[in-house]
Parts: sequence; structure tokens; C-alpha cells
Amino acid sequence: MSKPNIIITIDGPAGSGKSTVTKRLAERLGLDCLDTGAMYRVVAWVLRKQNQEDLSGEALTLLIKGLDFTIEGNGPAQKVWIEGKDISQEIRTPEISRLASAMSMKAEVRSVLAEKQRALGKQGGLIAEGRDMGTVIFPRADYKFFLDASLDVRAKRRYKELIQRGQTLSLGEVRQEMEARDRQDQERTLAPLRPAADALVIDTSDFSIEEVVQLICSRIFHGTNASFGDLLPA
Ligand code: C5P
Repeated sequence: MSKPNIIITIDGPAGSGKSTVTKRLAERLGLDCLDTGAMYRVVAWVLRKQNQEDLSGEALTLLIKGLDFTIEGNGPAQKVWIEGKDISQEIRTPEISRLASAMSMKAEVRSVLAEKQRALGKQGGLIAEGRDMGTVIFPRADYKFFLDASLDVRAKRRYKELIQRGQTLSLGEVRQEMEARDRQDQERTLAPLRPAADALVIDTSDFSIEEVVQLICSRIFHGTNASFGDLLPA
């Protein structure tokens, strides 16, 4: 079956369940995933590696335009390569989270990545997750969702994830970092983190991943047993 020419956006703060929900939903609906947070992380990783965090203007634009990276899939099994090097784990550290958020405030970074994201969405058949998918990158997306959860719940989820990755932060530190990053993402001038006016906001605090996926599917198919096959042109 060919992929439906459809775009679904899933935005929300850190730890809201975006990546896992996106992955599961993409498998269920036969769509591709686009993890735009990973793109900001790749940029942060490169700038850190090259000691170029202060770069700006044309030089920054050119550097990002020239990056040759690949992101495959979403969630814990995601693979990220840059120039053949596997950096899947290295982009998931608290330091890179912080730096990605700082770099995402720069117009040069956002504009190059926005161009790449729109190009990847051109064919449709995509679930795009991030902070500004429904508001800025794909304002005409077919379905928009914004996942949220209480800070405590999100911090616990992220803490568990980091421990599994072998990192040693306390729950308090994770909570504090997350709160600061979300505030920065919400308060920045360019493409701040917020739900699109036409997005369905889902508080995932008391839901399992499967329940959130079910909720999204029932919204898309209006509670029927339809599938995307039924939405495809004959
Ligand atoms: O989703 P993730 O936590 O990997 O994103 C890392 C950072 O990248 C976010 O804190 C945010 O600052 C930035 N980001 C963004 N716009 C997006 C996706 C991520 O500004 N669409």
C-alpha cells in the first residue's frame, strides 16, 4: 500500500511522550517519523565538538547547511549518524539537551533546519515531532496534537530513560534541568513552544503510551474502524 500523503504534527515539552507515541503511531499507520529535536541535537553536538558555540551569521548558516547527517527512526532504538559516525547516544546527554535549546534560539539555526524539515515533509506520509511543527513548519498539517504532562511526571520519565542509558543524575537535577529548558523553549522569540490553535492538547500524565496512541487514532478516524487505506484516493 502506498503511503497516504498526510502530515501529522506532534509537539510538546520534554518528557511528554512525543517520541514513543510518534514511533508507535508511525508503525501503526505506516508513516515515516521526523524527529526534529534530534536535528537540533546534531547541530549542538557539532558546534560543541568544534568549540564553535558562539558562531553566528553566514558562517553558522554555511556550517549547518553543509552538515551531512542521517536520523533513522524514533525512540530508544533511534540511530543518528554524522559523516558515518554513530552519535545516537552522544546527542542524548543533558549537556547536549541544554545546548540544543540554547542553539535553537538562533535564527540561523532555525532557518536552515526549517528548510530541511519542510523538504522532508514535501512528500507527506509523515509524523513530525518537535516544538513548532504545528505552529510554524507545517501550519497546514492534516492533524495536529500537542502532548503535555505535569513536570513531576515528565521528570520521572526522563530520569528513568537517562538511568537506562547509564547516566548518573538525581531526579531533582533532571527536574530542574527540564524546567529551565522548557521555560527557555516557551519564552524564546522565534517559534516558541506552544500548541497550535487547531491542535488537540492531550495531558498524558495519567495515560499509558498505548492509551495516547488510541486517543490519537480515534481522533483521526473519528472513533471508527477506518484505516488510512480508506483515506487514500481510489
Ligand atoms: O525534543 P528534544 O528534547 O530532543 O529537543 C531538543 C531541543 O531542541 C529542545 O529543547 C528545543 O530547544 C529544540 N527544538 C526546537 N524545535 C523543534 C524541536 C526541538 O527548538 N522543533
